[in-house]
Amino acid sequence: MISERAGRVKPSPTIAIDSRAKEMKARGVDVINFGVGEPDFDTPEHIKEAAIRALREGKTKYTIVDGIPELKDAIIGKLESDNGLSYSRDEIIVSCGAKHSLYNIAQALLSPGDEVIIPSPYWVSYPAQVLLNDGTPVIAGTTEEEGFVINPDALIPLITPRTRAIILNYPSNPTGLTYDRAILEQIGSIALKHNIYIISDEIYEKLLYDATEHTSIASLSGDIKAMTILVNGISKSHAMTGWRIGYTAGPADIIKAMKKIQSQSTSNPTSISQWAAVEALTGPQDFMEEMIREFDIRRRFLVDELNRMEGVSCMMPKGAFYAFPNIKGLLGGKMGNGIIDDSSALALYLLDEARVALVPGSAFGAEGYIRISYATSMENIQEGLNRIRHALAKNS
Ligand SMILES: *Cc1c(COP(=O)(O)O)cnc(C)c1O
Repeated sequence: MISERAGRVKPSPTIAIDSRAKEMKARGVDVINFGVGEPDFDTPEHIKEAAIRALREGKTKYTIVDGIPELKDAIIGKLESDNGLSYSRDEIIVSCGAKHSLYNIAQALLSPGDEVIIPSPYWVSYPAQVLLNDGTPVIAGTTEEEGFVINPDALIPLITPRTRAIILNYPSNPTGLTYDRAILEQIGSIALKHNIYIISDEIYEKLLYDATEHTSIASLSGDIKAMTILVNGISKSHAMTGWRIGYTAGPADIIKAMKKIQSQSTSNPTSISQWAAVEALTGPQDFMEEMIREFDIRRRFLVDELNRMEGVSCMMPKGAFYAFPNIKGLLGGKMGNGIIDDSSALALYLLDEARVALVPGSAFGAEGYIRISYATSMENIQEGLNRIRHALAKNS
């Protein structure tokens, strides 16, 4: 018998699609994978060198649970210079990826029945992590017309005495859109008024296009900072998903509770990865420009091509590496042997018929959309789009 807790959640649908695509590939089927949630660039050489050096120097033992001081200081320096935020070491904890940071926050913050407001479309793990920690996700729907940004007025009716936190993710996975300062100010003042923590997931901060600026909500005022639990990491910015380093900056009492929980579960994040992360945050950053330039070229091409497809329309994303096209115009149509009545039917049809893997919008709480990752080569994007066009032409 497995626990009631384990029964509350399903495996991550994005990872499920990715695994299915990988499994098809292993069988020799040539699948174009638009489901990927990680940069297709390699970790920069100077960061790998730092890890090799750490290995050679025998930095292979347990470290302090919440991160080596060198890494904490590198994070403090980053938050200061990029975000204008000032934190001390006891307000920082390093965890095994930003996903782990978010999980520890849920563990530290939630008592049974506590509510967490999650704007949709949301990253798939937010509701799951709240459920795993005995909380109740309260989904705040947003529309494409409002740029998938939560309308602060729509937020207020969702607040109850049990509301503990709201989770913001900007730039957003899956929409690629981001929050501007004015909206963040409104959300910040609502959070202050109702005494709600703001969990601010800024993992895509560095991946912004068209000279779009990132403002961390914590930087808006000292009062807002005191209610913000900021999550960031190096997975997406430095192409280091496999290294498993993420971090949290926030009020010392919450960080202390997270440290206690981490000390009883994972202990420290990998020692070698921590040394690599020091280099990632303090070493040269020029490779990032190159990565962003390449993502930008793909972004424009992909979105233009999607907008040329009948029944599809796509907003131009401002950040991250996802396009989130509206596919409502395709629903209800006959394709292959059946009717495509929702985004998962479309995703399955495209996987079987076009050998293209992508994630249905329903996985992110947004029916009528699909998520296409452009963290794959231009050739793959071209080929994948050709296949999709072919498969869609096989209708009625
Ligand atoms: C990838 C991702 C994370 C997790 O990053 P890791 O550091 O690899 O755990 C967190 N939030 C969002 C929105 C992501 O897309």
